[in-house]
Amino acid sequence: MSRQLLIITAPSGAGKTTIVQYLLGHFRQLAFSISATTRPKRDHETDGVDYYFLDHDTFQEKIRQHAFAEYEEVYPGRWYGTLRTEMDRLWNDDKCIVFDIDVLGALNLQSQYPEESLSMFIAPPSLEVLENRLRSRGTETPESLTARLQRAAMELERCNSFDQVIINDDLETACQKAARIVTAFLS
Ligand code: 5GP
Repeated sequence: MSRQLLIITAPSGAGKTTIVQYLLGHFRQLAFSISATTRPKRDHETDGVDYYFLDHDTFQEKIRQHAFAEYEEVYPGRWYGTLRTEMDRLWNDDKCIVFDIDVLGALNLQSQYPEESLSMFIAPPSLEVLENRLRSRGTETPESLTARLQRAAMELERCNSFDQVIINDDLETACQKAARIVTAFLS
């Protein structure tokens, strides 16, 4: 199989992770790119499954070593990046790699792999709905909620740079639309 990338991006809280999990469950050709991050692990997360959790110095050292295909300081002091070794691991296994990454990282990867990638932007119906979803998730402090909403506004402005935009009004409908797009991409 040729090297393929399925880049999925969205403002935090738009339902991206759920759609990614749905696609991973439906297409055996897909495999998830486990990112590295310096943000603290959440209770339900496992190191090496959800993320590779790194301390700040280790992350910066890997930047100097050019170990990342892309990286971003997504929130102040919170770094996230895609390790080249992770991409090689999945491509060596003949997988189409699925990326769940922020908008700037997605634009970066898309420009590095214009022919091999399909990019999907998952949009919330509105910023208000996004705020309600983030609040009810209960993972944010007031400060991190504000940071996520400010960033979401910037990210929404860039939605037209992606191959496909899916408005996540109804999760089931959004998952089905994403699946149809992926079927066409993989065939
Ligand atoms: P969270 O902290 O909610 O897991 O993720 C915060 C944001 O960072 C999300 O938009 C997520 O998609 C993004 N993100 C996760 N991994 C990466 C990565 O490797 N690179 C970039 N640029 N963003 C990432």
